[in-house]
Amino acid sequence: MQGLRWTRCAKSWRPPATLFNLDSNGFTNHNQEIGSTNLPVDFPWPGGMETRRGIAVSPGVAIGSALVLDLSGVVIARRSILPSDAEAEVQRLADALGRAAVEARDRATSLHNRLTPELARDIGGILSSQALLLEHDHVLRYRVEALIRGQNYSAEYAMNRAVGAMIRELGEAGGPFNRLATDLRDLETQVLRILVGSEQPGQIASTNGPVVVLAHDLTPSETVQLDPDSVHAFATESGGPTSHTAIMAGALEIPAVVGIGRFLDNVTPSDTVIVDGTQGLLIMNPDEATLARYQTIRAAQPSPTVAHLEPLRDVPAMTRDGVRLRLLGNIEFPTEAAQCVDRGAEGVGLYRTEFLYVNKTSDPTEEEHFEAYREVLSKIGPTRPVVIRTLDIGADKFSSVSGMLSGEKNPFLGLRSVRLCLRNLDLFKTQLRAILRASVHGDVRIMFPMISTVMELRHCKSLLLDVQEHLEEEGIPFKRDIPVGTMIEVPSAALLADVLAKQVDFFSIGTNDLVQYTLAADRNNENVASLYNPVDPAVLRLMRMVVEAAKREQVEVNVCGEMSGEPIYVPLLIGLGLRQLSATPRKLSEVKRVIRELAIPDAEHIAREAMQMESAREVTTYLREQLRRILPDTTD
Ligand code: PEP
Ligand code: MG
Repeated sequence: MQGLRWTRCAKSWRPPATLFNLDSNGFTNHNQEIGSTNLPVDFPWPGGMETRRGIAVSPGVAIGSALVLDLSGVVIARRSILPSDAEAEVQRLADALGRAAVEARDRATSLHNRLTPELARDIGGILSSQALLLEHDHVLRYRVEALIRGQNYSAEYAMNRAVGAMIRELGEAGGPFNRLATDLRDLETQVLRILVGSEQPGQIASTNGPVVVLAHDLTPSETVQLDPDSVHAFATESGGPTSHTAIMAGALEIPAVVGIGRFLDNVTPSDTVIVDGTQGLLIMNPDEATLARYQTIRAAQPSPTVAHLEPLRDVPAMTRDGVRLRLLGNIEFPTEAAQCVDRGAEGVGLYRTEFLYVNKTSDPTEEEHFEAYREVLSKIGPTRPVVIRTLDIGADKFSSVSGMLSGEKNPFLGLRSVRLCLRNLDLFKTQLRAILRASVHGDVRIMFPMISTVMELRHCKSLLLDVQEHLEEEGIPFKRDIPVGTMIEVPSAALLADVLAKQVDFFSIGTNDLVQYTLAADRNNENVASLYNPVDPAVLRLMRMVVEAAKREQVEVNVCGEMSGEPIYVPLLIGLGLRQLSATPRKLSEVKRVIRELAIPDAEHIAREAMQMESAREVTTYLREQLRRILPDTTD
């Protein structure tokens, strides 16, 4: 077993108060001279099997070697050096420690210009003491050097292991030592950045597989760089079920578990890990029986998603009593349009165009927008609808975009999405022009995200008219009657649905955001994941209002949040009156299977019952029972 590679010994060592100069409460004392301590190098390496539960966001099982993308975004792969290179490696470490110390001092100095004197003193004190630690603390250096010389580890790998072990020991000491562990992790980050250079995200794709990426968090742009040929799964400490990272994992069809809580300190690069994206488990250093069991599961389910359901691809999404529904696909990249067709989608219900920003440092040009839209349309065909959503940048998506304010205190409530576009009219009009130009190549529909007031919607529509006039003046062809819709993903929009419905051709309910804004529960935050529930009665009431308003005004209504890809919610959604759902393409067959076993009066009964309930838990239990009844062979 991989976990037995290292010597294990009694976990006897505790950090002495002299290490990092602790005060009597265990906090780092930043004002004293740092001394050295002689500590054993043969410190303990916990290596037994450990199972952690998180949020299952993309199904399937993968077994691989851990590639740790550390808190700071630094990849630390296991790397050995030749014994003859050990002294050069030790020197490389010394140089990096020296440079990190200089940088820490520089940061401390520059703080004085930017902060209040009190804050500058406190934070500057921390940074100065970090510099002192880097220059004068021999414990850390001694441990890392010993691993370089004794084990022939590269400087970065040795650093990562030594710090990981010290943090584990501090964790066992508990309480006030947590602060010291944070300081240590921070120091490690700075040194590793220097040792490995800064072009980290690209390395995720280029690392030789098969690996399982383990990280505190992954941004959507990092996630998209995971090469499915080498990265077989990922697991993160933070994140929620509808975070954009989770959505990307689903689109890439890589097993993934998020929101596990702290585990990176307990794993070492190259450990064997299992990600069970169906059950939401991360198993570190599996014992032989567990490994064998999962090898069998993996072999039996090479494609654990919808392989057995593919026969449904070409049959209509029709209920048992003959009501025809429309299933559409959600996409982030033009290449996924082919997946929509392969999985039987009748069009694209949500094209998240902000993903044009992946790997870009500048705004996409009009031609780049246009080419992307034309590619989608050519794959989908001229008669199937393609709903192009205007840029929903901000919050957790693409913070390098022009016009975005960095450091907003509460970016999900800040200059996100259509708000940002309405402040950056050139950016917005560029996209609108491209969408209109593409409209002659297929059934294009345009959708505005994050609308929270009627004025915003009016403003968007008047800009669209401006752009149409300009195109007309320039003699550029476009479709004049392009359908215009709005997302309903903010409670104010749901409450105003009757007013908004008079202004648009269609609605699309974005439950991912509607849930977070209704329940004040961040969709990315695992600590509030138990509050974040799409069948909370408050959310259901808003959805019912939207569907009823849409019906009265005769506008189409769709649901494009992750909820619509989950079989358990399908009877409820149909019972509420929805006749269109848009989901990640690989989920469509499962959704269709439920639809084909359902009759409308049955679905309406389920919705009526659910709407009487007072808590998300009751609704979930009820819906689970109903799904078991509808599909007796289901395991959910
Ligand atoms: C939603 O909020 O439900 C939605 C579909 O938009 P996104 O997930 O891109 O925020
Ligand atoms: Mg949204």
